[in-house]
Amino acid sequence: MLDNPLPKVGVSACLLGQPVRYDGGHKRDTFIMGPLSEHLEFISICPETGIGLGVPRPTIRLMGNIEHPRLVGTADTSMDVTDKMEAYAEQQSRQLNNLCGYILKKDSPSCGMERVKVFNASGKNPARKGSGIFARILMQNNPLLPVEEEGRLNDVVLRENFINRIYVLQRWHRLLWNGINAASLIEFHTVHKYLVMAHSQASYQRLGRLLSDLSHRDLELLSQDYIAELMHTLKRRVTRQRHVNVLQHIMGYLKKSIDSDDKAELSGAIASYRRGETPLIVPITLLRHYFRRHHDAYMERQIYLWPHPDKLGLRNSI
Ligand code: SF4
Repeated sequence: MLDNPLPKVGVSACLLGQPVRYDGGHKRDTFIMGPLSEHLEFISICPETGIGLGVPRPTIRLMGNIEHPRLVGTADTSMDVTDKMEAYAEQQSRQLNNLCGYILKKDSPSCGMERVKVFNASGKNPARKGSGIFARILMQNNPLLPVEEEGRLNDVVLRENFINRIYVLQRWHRLLWNGINAASLIEFHTVHKYLVMAHSQASYQRLGRLLSDLSHRDLELLSQDYIAELMHTLKRRVTRQRHVNVLQHIMGYLKKSIDSDDKAELSGAIASYRRGETPLIVPITLLRHYFRRHHDAYMERQIYLWPHPDKLGLRNSI
């Protein structure tokens, strides 16, 4: 599973430029096919062609009960592919348990993550309250999996958050692959400290309490609770102020090693970030610079300072 160091991420095939849409077209996404493609291994899936629908094909849509809509032909509602799609989604989503993330095509009755139109029984009055059938089952069967739609990834904060979670899940898979034990679980928790604190200090404390006494505990069950809470916490949007709090905490580790000029420079960079004048990468780069000059084994392991490849440029715009 981990021979290849790139995290595996499922992607709706049309976003990768594959001509699998109902009209033979695609929806190639420039961010996915640009920077992301160099750092992730894409697993391309088109659920509609996966269940045997051709290209081109009649369009389909969600219809009926909002909670349990059917997936039927737009022009011919007797064409009902719900059961086929559910069976396909069950089979695929269980096979894909080594994925670290998934990018879905928005608005699709098969792939859409949320706000997909569900038409009433007469085929009218669409309510944007549904999820694509494939997407719903994928998310139900893989609750830890970071899932986003390509449209939401235009939001730079959500984008950075999503990529962070992909790399966290990859490290978790590696931990399980190597055989989890009390020491490795505590080390995992330790290196993620500031990343978690940026999302929620209370969650960091709850996670710490979960690991506070590992003797006589079922490590497998406990680690499931741990990763569920962690992945849930990391979904929370991080505000600029929360980043500032974490940056100041981290700066505290340098108080005995850098002089007053360097402290002023670092404080200035954090203040400038807080005012929205510079992106997060500026104070982060300064902190890394000082930790290179003044080694600190604890801080050098903190994922918060190196959460994903710099080349992605994700912290250049938040
Ligand atoms: S949205 Fe999903 S089902 Fe539709 S063409 Fe793209 S990959 Fe296929």
